[in-house]
Formats: sequence, C-alpha cells, structure tokens
Amino acid sequence: MWKSKYIFGPVPSRRLGRSLGIDLVPYKTCPFDCIYCQLGRTTTKTMERKEYFPLDEIIGEVDRKLKENCAFDYITLSGSGEPTLHSRIGELIEAIKKRTAKPLAVITNGSLLWDGDVRSALMPTDVVVPSLDAGTQEYFEAVNRPCPGLRLDRVVDGLETFSREFKGQMWLEVFLLGGMFDPRSRAREIAELTRRIRPTLVQLNTVARPPCESFAAPVPRDVMMELPSYFSGPTEVIAEFSAKWQNTPRPANREEILNLLSRRPCKSKDVAASLGIHHLEVLKVLEELVRERVLAVTEENSETFYEVITRNTEGEK
Ligand code: SF4
Repeated sequence: MWKSKYIFGPVPSRRLGRSLGIDLVPYKTCPFDCIYCQLGRTTTKTMERKEYFPLDEIIGEVDRKLKENCAFDYITLSGSGEPTLHSRIGELIEAIKKRTAKPLAVITNGSLLWDGDVRSALMPTDVVVPSLDAGTQEYFEAVNRPCPGLRLDRVVDGLETFSREFKGQMWLEVFLLGGMFDPRSRAREIAELTRRIRPTLVQLNTVARPPCESFAAPVPRDVMMELPSYFSGPTEVIAEFSAKWQNTPRPANREEILNLLSRRPCKSKDVAASLGIHHLEVLKVLEELVRERVLAVTEENSETFYEVITRNTEGEK
C-alpha cells in the first residue's frame, strides 16, 4: 500500500459524513492558537501565505487516491493547520474540480478572508466552513490567541464580504466554551455579528475531543440546546457523528490506524467506522499500540479517545 503524505482518510466528520481530507500546510501552521484546538498548541503561528507543500505532489496524490475508488462523501481541505495559508490553494481547488464531481469543502478559521486572493481562490468550492468564536476583540484574543495585529473586526469584515460574494454554502462554525467562559453571553455577542455576515447556516459546536488547554471546558448539553434561539438565521447544534454507511469488515491495519490517529484523536468506534474494520479488531490494535506507548488514552466527557504520542512511520510529522 502506498503511503500518502498529504491525503488522509476517509475520516468520519460530524458535518461531512465520510471525508477525504487533504493537508495543505505542515502540522499546526496556523494564524490562531485556539485554546480548544484538538491538535495541541500551534507550533508555527503565522499569516504568511506560501506554497508550504508542492502543489504538483498534492495533485499527484489526489489522482492516485481517486483511482482507488474508495467511498467518500466529500473532499475536504482541512487537516492539521489553516489551509488558506497555502498560496496555491485556488489552483488545487480548480484541479480537484476538474477531476471529480464529488463535493469539495474547505474548513478554515476564516482569519484570511479579508484578503481578496483568498476569497477568489475559494469561490469554486461547494461548501466553506469558516469559524467565528468571539464577538469582542478581548475574547477573540483569549480564545483564538491570534497572530499579533490580527483584529476581529478585520476577520468579520472578511466573513461578511465572502458571504456576499460566495455562491456555495457557507456554514459558519461557532465554537463555544463552558465553565468560566459564560457561553450565553458569548453566543449573544456572536449572534449580533452573524446578522451582518448572513451565512447559509450557523453551526454551534463545543468541546468533544481533548482540548489543547485543560481549562477549555465543554458547554453542557442543556445550555447548548438553548443557544440556537439567540441567532436569527438558520442555526443548529452539531450532532455527534454517526456512520450512515455500511462497511465490509476487513482486517485491522496498524499503519492505516496510525495514519488516521496522527491527524486527530478519535474514539475506537470512529476508527472502525472510518476504516471499515470491525470494532473489536480495532480495539485489539489500539490496545497493542497503547501497550507499546505509541498511543495515549485520554478521557473527555466520559468518552475514551486515542491519540498518537510517538510517530513510527517515515515521513509523518
Ligand atoms: S482550532 Fe483550527 S484555527 Fe484554532 S488553532 Fe487549531 S487548527 Fe488553528
């Protein structure tokens, strides 16, 4: 089996079903360092746009993956950093659109949408999922910990302009935190801004996987269910992922499991659903990898997540 450097999955996604992901920037290269990030702290905090990974290599992997005819619902530009930092993302989007009729999504923190080049690059996509987690500069700095000088009003202006120009679906993700963060007040402040931005849909999210900072607490379910009423447009609480497809059981493959978990921590049943491997087979491999100290186990909301603590495959970050 060939080892991909930039393509991962298909992985289970709460919004996009079975998603074939493409990483466009090295691990944790991002203009933000969100306190809830499931990937850990940002190692390269930057707003510099450049060709982080060679475009021709990424397109070569796309061709190879599409030839495999694996089942997926979306191609998603996301991964372990901010995809719009890649200066040739527009060319990649055009290349993918020429190769497949499958819908294409971009998951972005929206930090660069004030840049006309970034907005133009994203125009041919079907779904863009930007984030907006704060309604004030002070809270923006506390929760997203952006690059110095990046102001919330600039980000909101970018989101508003993009929403006006974009013909596809724009699902605005609002990530809320519980505990000391007062999610009701934060949601009211953000709701005010979404009246200007007018996304297709607002999706409310909270911590469901181990966060970067332990004080980033989840919003309790009953409070979460109350929050859509604060927003004037279509708004939903993102439901937990559930697999809609049936996989043919096959043997567990350590490399595949490690490749998936190196992107983000997952529950064992999500690994099984994503890779089409029987849950018990996955558990056997996960337990073996925990014993070998390649994986660590963490608990979040009474759920067990597995994450990579040691990379043992060549070329992985
Ligand atoms: S959550 Fe997204 S935007 Fe925030 S630091 Fe992590 S990768 Fe960057």
